Amino acid sequence: MIELTPEQETIRQTVNRICREKLAPRAAEMDRTGEFPWDILREFATAGVAHMFFPVEYGGLGEDLVTSTMVIEEIARVNAATAHTFTGVANSRLPLLTAGTDEQKRRYMPLLIREAGVTCLSITEPNAGSDVAAMETRAVRDGDSYVLNGRKCFATNGSVAVLYFIFAVTTPGAGARGISCFLVERGTPGLRPGRVEDKVGLRASNVSELILEDVRVPATNRLGGEGDGFKICMRALDKARLDAAALGVGLAQGALDYAVAYAKGRVQFKQSVAEFQGMQFLFADMATSVAAARALTYETARRMQANDSSTAHFCAMAKLCASDMAMKVTVDAVQALGGYGVLKDHPVERMMRDAKILQIFDGTNQIQRMIIARGLLGGAAAGPRAAPGGRNFS
Ligand SMILES: Cc1cc2nc3c(=O)[nH]c(=O)nc-3n(C[C@H](O)[C@H](O)[C@H](O)COP(=O)(O)OP(=O)(O)OC[C@H]3O[C@@H](n4cnc5c(N)ncnc54)[C@H](O)[C@@H]3O)c2cc1C
Repeated sequence: MIELTPEQETIRQTVNRICREKLAPRAAEMDRTGEFPWDILREFATAGVAHMFFPVEYGGLGEDLVTSTMVIEEIARVNAATAHTFTGVANSRLPLLTAGTDEQKRRYMPLLIREAGVTCLSITEPNAGSDVAAMETRAVRDGDSYVLNGRKCFATNGSVAVLYFIFAVTTPGAGARGISCFLVERGTPGLRPGRVEDKVGLRASNVSELILEDVRVPATNRLGGEGDGFKICMRALDKARLDAAALGVGLAQGALDYAVAYAKGRVQFKQSVAEFQGMQFLFADMATSVAAARALTYETARRMQANDSSTAHFCAMAKLCASDMAMKVTVDAVQALGGYGVLKDHPVERMMRDAKILQIFDGTNQIQRMIIARGLLGGAAAGPRAAPGGRNFS
């Protein structure tokens, strides 16, 4: 449906080969054990896929957002959990690129390329989920460093990342304007992952608590100015929403493909169940909604790449549309397999569990609706605590 350049088609085929040969045979086992896919990430790194989204001057290939969307979709068709991990790789350069100084970029880009770029963007806290500005983790200036204390949760790649983007309050009482972002390297004293979460889906992606006890970071590791954290966070979340949409499209396509193949082979009433019009209509609806969500997702990638002013609005619409679509399509795929759909012998029950998370992370779908409505209605829909840009939620 999306016209790919010859270069993009080569990348797609490379990703598809790794997924078919290395990922597909282990997807069910990884879902059972929650094993983090280090070897698959290394395969992607060796094939040049992991760092292709970094700028050429830092050793990357400078690929664009349509390409990264396509890669995430391709991985999610086979295994959404690995695609989720990969978004932490594909995204890792973004806050650095948009807010980092030359010195910060020179220091950290090569590290990310070398270490397959596994990063962790840690915003959420026990008392600050949708309401990002309610965060309590503190960063206190002490000479030429900051000392961070607090507790984060739901940190994707929290116990495996090489570099953490930690958001903390530098000016208490200033709400969204009092938040700053810090680059914290793995192994910094006082930073440790807490419990690794046992999730319903995306089980092979790593999500953990993060505990910060007197974590001292040089002031030169602050990304942007004091108080710029919220802006950095919102930009990063826009990209995360585009990635979540790509995840939803890939996941749903994988479920549709599997269900159609199964229905063709399953015989009841002396004919393949795919020959029943009731099933055909189900598949027709599934295919139509996947195609519609894909079109919106790639249009969003195009707008973001062009730095269009509608980007945040489109990222919210794509995330909402594709994740709700993925939830419905995967439930329908389970239905298409009848009783076998709920058994772990087939991947569709895993896909259904994975889809549920897409409606929650990177800002719940209620929050996406609020962002979309604010884009439409402007000030009339902005709540009393709206931050600059009319957004004070994740
Ligand atoms: C698998 C996974 C990975 C994640 N990865 C990361 C990560 O890498 N980094 C990170 O910082 N966070 C991450 N998160 C956290 C995620 O972004 C939050 O879970 C999400 O923003 C919602 O916050 P909450 O869970 O505290 O829900 P709450 O904010 O407590 O919301 C509870 C319910 O109330 C609704 N609600 C809240 N406010 C409103 C409102 N104003 N209007 C209408 N309804 C509302 C919500 O939609 C939801 O249904 C992850 C979460 C998951 C599940």
